[in-house]
Amino acid sequence: MDLFELCKKVPKVELHAHLNGSLSEKTLTTLDVPQHLLEGYQIINNLAVTTPEKLNECFKLFKIAHDATASVNSIYVATKHVIEEFYKDNVIYLELRTTPRQESNMTKEEYIAAVVRAIEESKDFITVKLILSIDRRHSMEVSKNALNIILEMHEMYPDIIKGIDLCGDPSQGTFHENLFIEARNSGLKITLHCGEIKNDQEVLQMLKFKPDRIGHGTCIHPNYEGSDELWKLYKSSSIPTECCLTSNVLCGTTSTYSKHHTREWLQDELPFCINTDDKGVFNTSASEELLHAIENLNLPKTFLIDHSLSAIEYAFASEKEKMKIKEFLMDWKKQNQGLFNETVSK
Ligand SMILES: [Zn+2]
Repeated sequence: MDLFELCKKVPKVELHAHLNGSLSEKTLTTLDVPQHLLEGYQIINNLAVTTPEKLNECFKLFKIAHDATASVNSIYVATKHVIEEFYKDNVIYLELRTTPRQESNMTKEEYIAAVVRAIEESKDFITVKLILSIDRRHSMEVSKNALNIILEMHEMYPDIIKGIDLCGDPSQGTFHENLFIEARNSGLKITLHCGEIKNDQEVLQMLKFKPDRIGHGTCIHPNYEGSDELWKLYKSSSIPTECCLTSNVLCGTTSTYSKHHTREWLQDELPFCINTDDKGVFNTSASEELLHAIENLNLPKTFLIDHSLSAIEYAFASEKEKMKIKEFLMDWKKQNQGLFNETVSK
Protein backbone atom coordinates (compact mmCIF):
# COMPACT_ATOMS: atom_id res chain seq x y z
CA MET A 1 0.00 0.00 0.00
CA ASP A 2 1.48 3.36 -0.93
CA LEU A 3 1.73 6.12 1.62
CA PHE A 4 -1.19 8.17 0.34
CA GLU A 5 -3.44 5.10 0.32
CA LEU A 6 -2.43 4.53 3.93
CA CYS A 7 -3.22 8.17 4.81
CA LYS A 8 -6.67 7.69 3.30
CA LYS A 9 -7.30 4.38 5.05
CA VAL A 10 -6.47 5.56 8.57
CA PRO A 11 -9.49 6.76 10.61
CA LYS A 12 -8.92 10.48 11.10
CA VAL A 13 -9.79 13.36 13.41
CA GLU A 14 -10.24 16.88 11.97
CA LEU A 15 -10.49 19.83 14.37
CA HIS A 16 -9.98 22.98 12.27
CA ALA A 17 -12.32 23.16 9.26
CA HIS A 18 -14.22 26.30 8.27
CA LEU A 19 -17.55 25.30 6.79
CA ASN A 20 -17.67 27.73 3.86
CA GLY A 21 -13.99 27.28 2.98
CA SER A 22 -14.58 23.52 2.92
CA LEU A 23 -17.08 23.59 0.04
CA SER A 24 -15.65 21.64 -2.86
CA GLU A 25 -16.18 22.52 -6.48
CA LYS A 26 -18.54 19.54 -6.66
CA THR A 27 -20.61 20.89 -3.76
CA LEU A 28 -20.80 24.30 -5.40
CA THR A 29 -22.21 22.73 -8.56
CA THR A 30 -25.14 21.42 -6.51
CA LEU A 31 -25.76 24.90 -5.09
CA ASP A 32 -26.90 27.82 -7.14
CA VAL A 33 -23.55 29.10 -8.38
CA PRO A 34 -23.36 30.74 -11.83
CA GLN A 35 -21.41 28.68 -14.38
CA HIS A 36 -18.75 31.35 -15.03
CA LEU A 37 -17.85 31.40 -11.30
CA LEU A 38 -17.56 27.62 -11.23
CA GLU A 39 -15.20 27.76 -14.19
CA GLY A 40 -13.15 30.27 -12.23
CA TYR A 41 -13.02 27.79 -9.36
CA GLN A 42 -11.59 25.10 -11.66
CA ILE A 43 -8.96 27.44 -13.10
CA ILE A 44 -7.87 28.56 -9.65
CA ASN A 45 -7.68 25.04 -8.27
CA ASN A 46 -5.49 24.03 -11.18
CA LEU A 47 -2.96 26.80 -10.63
CA ALA A 48 0.37 25.52 -9.35
CA VAL A 49 0.59 25.69 -5.54
CA THR A 50 2.91 28.51 -4.34
CA THR A 51 2.36 30.98 -7.17
CA PRO A 52 1.43 34.45 -5.87
CA GLU A 53 -1.56 34.48 -8.22
CA LYS A 54 -2.86 31.44 -6.40
CA LEU A 55 -3.26 33.29 -3.12
CA ASN A 56 -5.13 36.20 -4.65
CA GLU A 57 -7.35 33.83 -6.51
CA CYS A 58 -7.98 31.72 -3.39
CA PHE A 59 -9.54 34.71 -1.69
CA LYS A 60 -12.01 35.03 -4.54
CA LEU A 61 -13.06 31.46 -3.82
CA PHE A 62 -14.09 32.38 -0.26
CA LYS A 63 -16.43 34.97 -1.72
CA ILE A 64 -17.95 32.47 -4.18
CA ALA A 65 -18.53 29.94 -1.36
CA HIS A 66 -19.94 32.66 0.90
CA ASP A 67 -22.40 33.85 -1.74
CA ALA A 68 -23.45 30.28 -2.48
CA THR A 69 -24.67 29.67 1.09
CA ALA A 70 -26.88 32.69 1.63
CA SER A 71 -30.11 30.80 2.39
CA VAL A 72 -31.27 28.24 4.94
CA ASN A 73 -31.53 25.53 2.31
CA SER A 74 -28.16 26.18 0.69
CA ILE A 75 -26.25 26.22 3.98
CA TYR A 76 -28.03 23.00 4.99
CA VAL A 77 -27.17 21.27 1.69
CA ALA A 78 -23.60 22.60 1.81
CA THR A 79 -23.11 21.27 5.35
CA LYS A 80 -24.41 17.84 4.35
CA HIS A 81 -21.95 17.71 1.44
CA VAL A 82 -18.97 18.85 3.49
CA ILE A 83 -19.66 16.23 6.18
CA GLU A 84 -20.08 13.53 3.55
CA GLU A 85 -16.76 14.41 1.91
CA PHE A 86 -14.88 14.27 5.21
CA TYR A 87 -16.60 10.94 5.95
CA LYS A 88 -15.54 9.55 2.56
CA ASP A 89 -11.98 10.55 3.44
CA ASN A 90 -12.33 8.36 6.58
CA VAL A 91 -12.65 11.23 9.02
CA ILE A 92 -14.54 9.70 11.94
CA TYR A 93 -14.61 12.78 14.16
CA LEU A 94 -15.06 16.28 12.74
CA GLU A 95 -15.34 19.74 14.24
CA LEU A 96 -16.77 22.26 11.80
CA ARG A 97 -16.64 25.97 12.49
CA THR A 98 -18.64 28.81 11.00
CA THR A 99 -19.56 32.43 11.69
CA PRO A 100 -23.35 32.76 12.13
CA ARG A 101 -24.71 34.93 9.32
CA GLN A 102 -27.75 37.03 8.77
CA GLU A 103 -29.08 37.46 5.22
CA SER A 104 -32.20 39.11 3.85
CA ASN A 105 -34.14 35.84 4.12
CA MET A 106 -32.31 34.16 7.03
CA THR A 107 -31.58 35.05 10.67
CA LYS A 108 -28.41 33.99 12.48
CA GLU A 109 -30.50 31.55 14.52
CA GLU A 110 -31.88 29.98 11.34
CA TYR A 111 -28.39 29.73 9.88
CA ILE A 112 -27.12 27.88 12.97
CA ALA A 113 -30.20 25.64 13.12
CA ALA A 114 -29.70 24.60 9.46
CA VAL A 115 -26.09 23.60 10.13
CA VAL A 116 -27.14 21.73 13.30
CA ARG A 117 -29.86 19.86 11.38
CA ALA A 118 -27.32 18.64 8.80
CA ILE A 119 -25.01 17.54 11.62
CA GLU A 120 -27.79 15.68 13.46
CA GLU A 121 -28.72 13.81 10.30
CA SER A 122 -25.15 12.55 9.95
CA LYS A 123 -24.79 11.16 13.47
CA ASP A 124 -25.18 7.49 12.47
CA PHE A 125 -21.96 7.46 10.46
CA ILE A 126 -19.74 10.27 11.78
CA THR A 127 -19.44 12.32 14.97
CA VAL A 128 -19.59 16.04 14.15
CA LYS A 129 -19.44 18.97 16.56
CA LEU A 130 -19.94 22.65 15.82
CA ILE A 131 -17.76 25.59 16.79
CA LEU A 132 -19.31 29.02 16.24
CA SER A 133 -16.95 31.83 15.29
CA ILE A 134 -16.76 35.46 16.24
CA ASP A 135 -15.17 37.58 13.50
CA ARG A 136 -12.40 39.76 14.93
CA ARG A 137 -13.27 42.54 12.44
CA HIS A 138 -16.69 43.02 14.05
CA SER A 139 -17.31 45.74 16.64
CA MET A 140 -17.84 44.93 20.31
CA GLU A 141 -21.55 45.56 19.88
CA VAL A 142 -21.97 43.25 16.87
CA SER A 143 -19.84 40.57 18.54
CA LYS A 144 -21.81 40.81 21.79
CA ASN A 145 -25.03 40.35 19.86
CA ALA A 146 -23.51 37.33 18.05
CA LEU A 147 -22.38 35.87 21.38
CA ASN A 148 -25.89 36.18 22.85
CA ILE A 149 -27.28 34.21 19.92
CA ILE A 150 -24.49 31.63 20.19
CA LEU A 151 -25.22 31.13 23.91
CA GLU A 152 -28.92 30.79 23.27
CA MET A 153 -28.32 28.20 20.52
CA HIS A 154 -25.78 26.38 22.72
CA GLU A 155 -28.52 25.93 25.32
CA MET A 156 -30.80 24.45 22.66
CA TYR A 157 -28.15 22.12 21.18
CA PRO A 158 -25.61 21.48 23.96
CA ASP A 159 -24.46 18.16 22.47
CA ILE A 160 -23.59 19.67 19.10
CA ILE A 161 -22.50 23.27 19.70
CA LYS A 162 -19.38 22.78 21.78
CA GLY A 163 -17.09 25.71 21.21
CA ILE A 164 -16.42 29.25 20.14
CA ASP A 165 -13.65 30.53 17.89
CA LEU A 166 -12.07 33.88 17.07
CA CYS A 167 -11.44 34.14 13.34
CA GLY A 168 -11.10 36.66 10.51
CA ASP A 169 -8.40 38.80 8.92
CA PRO A 170 -5.57 38.86 11.51
CA SER A 171 -4.40 42.28 10.32
CA GLN A 172 -7.70 43.83 11.37
CA GLY A 173 -9.98 43.99 14.40
CA THR A 174 -9.37 42.79 17.91
CA PHE A 175 -9.75 40.03 20.50
CA HIS A 176 -12.68 41.00 22.74
CA GLU A 177 -11.50 38.95 25.72
CA ASN A 178 -14.56 39.71 27.89
CA LEU A 179 -16.85 37.96 25.45
CA PHE A 180 -14.72 34.86 25.51
CA ILE A 181 -14.72 34.85 29.30
CA GLU A 182 -18.50 34.93 29.17
CA ALA A 183 -18.54 32.07 26.62
CA ARG A 184 -16.21 30.00 28.79
CA ASN A 185 -18.37 30.62 31.87
CA SER A 186 -21.35 29.33 29.90
CA GLY A 187 -19.62 26.02 29.25
CA LEU A 188 -18.25 26.56 25.74
CA LYS A 189 -14.71 25.48 24.84
CA ILE A 190 -12.49 28.14 23.32
CA THR A 191 -10.19 28.12 20.32
CA LEU A 192 -8.52 31.28 19.01
CA HIS A 193 -6.79 31.92 15.69
CA CYS A 194 -3.55 33.08 17.26
CA GLY A 195 -0.30 34.54 15.95
CA GLU A 196 -1.13 34.20 12.25
CA ILE A 197 0.90 37.37 11.74
CA LYS A 198 3.41 39.01 14.06
CA ASN A 199 1.53 40.62 16.94
CA ASP A 200 3.41 39.83 20.16
CA GLN A 201 1.10 41.78 22.39
CA GLU A 202 -2.02 40.00 21.22
CA VAL A 203 -0.37 36.56 21.31
CA LEU A 204 0.68 37.30 24.89
CA GLN A 205 -2.88 38.30 25.81
CA MET A 206 -4.27 35.18 24.17
CA LEU A 207 -1.82 32.79 25.83
CA LYS A 208 -2.51 34.35 29.23
CA PHE A 209 -6.21 33.86 28.60
CA LYS A 210 -5.46 30.10 28.25
CA PRO A 211 -7.83 29.00 25.46
CA ASP A 212 -8.47 25.25 25.11
CA ARG A 213 -6.72 25.30 21.74
CA ILE A 214 -5.15 27.81 19.37
CA GLY A 215 -5.31 27.90 15.57
CA HIS A 216 -2.06 28.18 13.56
CA GLY A 217 0.28 29.65 16.21
CA THR A 218 2.59 30.73 13.40
CA CYS A 219 4.40 33.71 14.99
CA ILE A 220 5.14 32.40 18.48
CA HIS A 221 8.54 30.72 18.18
CA PRO A 222 11.51 33.13 17.84
CA ASN A 223 12.54 31.44 14.54
CA TYR A 224 9.11 32.30 13.13
CA GLU A 225 8.74 35.96 14.03
CA GLY A 226 7.69 35.26 17.61
CA SER A 227 9.95 35.74 20.62
CA ASP A 228 11.69 33.80 23.39
CA GLU A 229 9.21 35.17 25.90
CA LEU A 230 6.17 34.03 23.91
CA TRP A 231 7.64 30.61 23.22
CA LYS A 232 8.50 30.09 26.88
CA LEU A 233 4.97 31.04 27.90
CA TYR A 234 3.46 28.83 25.19
CA LYS A 235 5.62 25.87 26.21
CA SER A 236 4.46 26.12 29.81
CA SER A 237 0.80 26.34 28.79
CA SER A 238 0.29 22.88 27.18
CA ILE A 239 -2.31 24.39 24.83
CA PRO A 240 -2.68 22.21 21.71
CA THR A 241 -2.14 23.98 18.37
CA GLU A 242 -4.22 23.32 15.26
CA CYS A 243 -1.66 23.33 12.42
CA CYS A 244 -2.80 23.79 8.82
CA LEU A 245 0.08 23.08 6.45
CA THR A 246 -1.33 23.70 2.95
CA SER A 247 -3.22 26.77 4.13
CA ASN A 248 0.01 28.28 5.48
CA VAL A 249 2.03 27.37 2.37
CA LEU A 250 -0.59 28.91 0.07
CA CYS A 251 -1.00 32.02 2.21
CA GLY A 252 2.77 32.41 2.30
CA THR A 253 3.20 32.29 6.08
CA THR A 254 5.64 29.44 5.50
CA SER A 255 7.80 29.09 2.40
CA THR A 256 7.56 25.30 2.11
CA TYR A 257 5.98 22.35 3.87
CA SER A 258 9.33 21.21 5.21
CA LYS A 259 9.99 24.57 6.88
CA HIS A 260 6.60 24.72 8.59
CA HIS A 261 6.62 25.88 12.21
CA THR A 262 5.18 22.50 13.32
CA ARG A 263 8.87 21.48 13.33
CA GLU A 264 9.31 23.41 16.59
CA TRP A 265 6.33 21.60 18.13
CA LEU A 266 7.90 18.26 17.19
CA GLN A 267 11.30 19.32 18.46
CA ASP A 268 9.91 20.31 21.86
CA GLU A 269 7.27 17.54 21.96
CA LEU A 270 4.37 19.99 22.24
CA PRO A 271 0.74 19.12 21.50
CA PHE A 272 -0.53 19.79 17.97
CA CYS A 273 -2.84 18.37 15.34
CA ILE A 274 -2.85 18.58 11.54
CA ASN A 275 -5.87 20.14 9.84
CA THR A 276 -7.28 21.28 6.51
CA ASP A 277 -8.51 24.81 7.45
CA ASP A 278 -10.36 25.31 4.12
CA LYS A 279 -10.23 22.10 2.11
CA GLY A 280 -12.36 23.49 -0.74
CA VAL A 281 -10.56 26.77 -1.25
CA PHE A 282 -7.11 25.22 -0.83
CA ASN A 283 -8.04 22.06 -2.74
CA THR A 284 -6.85 19.63 -0.06
CA SER A 285 -8.17 16.89 2.27
CA ALA A 286 -7.42 15.49 5.73
CA SER A 287 -5.49 12.62 4.08
CA GLU A 288 -3.42 14.97 1.92
CA GLU A 289 -2.49 17.08 4.95
CA LEU A 290 -1.24 13.98 6.76
CA LEU A 291 0.72 12.98 3.67
CA HIS A 292 2.41 16.41 3.58
CA ALA A 293 3.24 16.09 7.28
CA ILE A 294 4.77 12.62 6.94
CA GLU A 295 6.73 13.45 3.81
CA ASN A 296 8.09 16.81 4.94
CA LEU A 297 8.44 16.68 8.71
CA ASN A 298 10.40 13.47 8.99
CA LEU A 299 7.66 11.50 10.75
CA PRO A 300 7.22 7.71 10.95
CA LYS A 301 4.21 6.04 9.34
CA THR A 302 2.77 5.24 12.77
CA PHE A 303 2.30 8.99 13.19
CA LEU A 304 -0.85 8.58 11.08
CA ILE A 305 -2.80 6.61 13.67
CA ASP A 306 -1.04 8.16 16.68
CA HIS A 307 -2.09 11.57 15.36
CA SER A 308 -5.77 10.53 15.50
CA LEU A 309 -5.25 9.22 19.03
CA SER A 310 -3.73 12.47 20.25
CA ALA A 311 -6.08 14.78 18.30
CA ILE A 312 -9.14 13.15 19.89
CA GLU A 313 -7.72 14.12 23.30
CA TYR A 314 -7.88 17.79 22.23
CA ALA A 315 -11.44 17.51 20.84
CA PHE A 316 -14.36 19.47 22.30
CA ALA A 317 -16.68 16.42 22.53
CA SER A 318 -17.72 15.02 25.93
CA GLU A 319 -15.26 12.79 27.78
CA LYS A 320 -17.59 9.83 27.20
CA GLU A 321 -17.68 10.39 23.44
CA LYS A 322 -13.92 10.87 23.31
CA MET A 323 -13.36 7.64 25.22
CA LYS A 324 -15.54 5.70 22.78
CA ILE A 325 -13.66 7.07 19.77
CA LYS A 326 -10.33 6.45 21.45
CA GLU A 327 -11.25 2.82 22.05
CA PHE A 328 -12.24 2.45 18.41
CA LEU A 329 -8.92 3.95 17.29
CA MET A 330 -6.90 1.72 19.61
CA ASP A 331 -8.70 -1.39 18.31
CA TRP A 332 -8.11 -0.22 14.74
CA LYS A 333 -4.43 0.28 15.47
CA LYS A 334 -4.12 -3.20 16.95
CA GLN A 335 -5.90 -4.84 14.02
CA ASN A 336 -3.96 -2.92 11.38
CA GLN A 337 -0.49 -3.00 12.87
CA GLY A 338 0.75 -4.80 9.76
CA LEU A 339 0.06 -1.77 7.57
CA PHE A 340 2.68 0.21 9.41
CA ASN A 341 5.35 -2.46 9.08
CA GLU A 342 5.07 -2.93 5.32
CA THR A 343 7.70 -1.34 3.13
CA VAL A 344 6.20 1.72 1.54
CA SER A 345 6.31 1.66 -2.23
CA LYS A 346 5.57 4.94 -3.90
ZN1 LIG B 1 -8.76 28.88 10.24
